Amino acid sequence: MKVFELITVLALAAMPAAAELPIADIPPGHTKTFLVIHPHHDDHSWDYGQAGLITKLVDAGWTGYYIRVSNDEKDGPHGYPHDDMVNLFEAREATENLGITDVISLNWRNDYMDAMPINEIRAQLILLIRKFRPGLVTSYLPWGHYDRNPDHRKVATAVGEAVWLASFANVHPEHRKLGLRPYRVPNKFYSQRFDYGKGYEPNVIVELSESNVRRKARSYWVHRNVRLSGSTGRRMRALLKEQGLEIPELEGLSDIEAHARMQEWSMYDAARKVGRENGVEYGEMFSRLGEWHPWPGLKDYLESNAVDQ
Ligand SMILES: [Zn+2]
Repeated sequence: MKVFELITVLALAAMPAAAELPIADIPPGHTKTFLVIHPHHDDHSWDYGQAGLITKLVDAGWTGYYIRVSNDEKDGPHGYPHDDMVNLFEAREATENLGITDVISLNWRNDYMDAMPINEIRAQLILLIRKFRPGLVTSYLPWGHYDRNPDHRKVATAVGEAVWLASFANVHPEHRKLGLRPYRVPNKFYSQRFDYGKGYEPNVIVELSESNVRRKARSYWVHRNVRLSGSTGRRMRALLKEQGLEIPELEGLSDIEAHARMQEWSMYDAARKVGRENGVEYGEMFSRLGEWHPWPGLKDYLESNAVDQ
């Protein structure tokens, strides 16, 4: 072995392995209601989405609502208004599969959000937070380094601001006429895509069971308008045949069913990768801001001194 190679090997051996992230428990729910706030119909079930967390909360007895901020008119092959409606129907089916109780669509125009005043979207979110009084909000990270999707950036920023401002009585005092009082959201679980740009720095993982991943994987392809295509299934099979390969599990399935199965594998693979890097079988990563996040000194004190009542 050359000296240079030896030095490289020794240097790599001396490098600490990437630290595993701590596992976050489902927090004790003050209200056992949670909000999932996203610009689009399908944002819950990307590999960096929160569908696994959603199923865990539902299994623990929580009630969830999905807020779709845009009308999704640009997502799909049909144009407005067909894509708007079919994407809304599929969002209902996909989130029902996760255990979500209802989808509330704010119907802002998809891909036109840059021109919309953020205070309008924020005001709607503050109203919904005061109405539902969620023990947990999950969304894209408002302070992520970069997301190329303008709707993602706009809505995530509005969520971060709304979660903070909902607790101030002087913000939208007109809500009192509706009987809605200020409310502080105790738990925030944010995530962001990490396959381009600088991604983000998650601080916890949520451990998932096979059942959690199975529901997430199904909800991924239930958005058939944008996720399933018989021609893609056909092309993949032709490619395998060209290479002299076959996948017995795809035998007897239609091309579109084969594509759905392959989409499910991609979700399992993503959850398994996060799990493997963090010492569990399956997982999702989050940037969590917990109950005591605004008071870091108090958080440390409680960890050392607080006892159960
Ligand atoms: Zn999206």
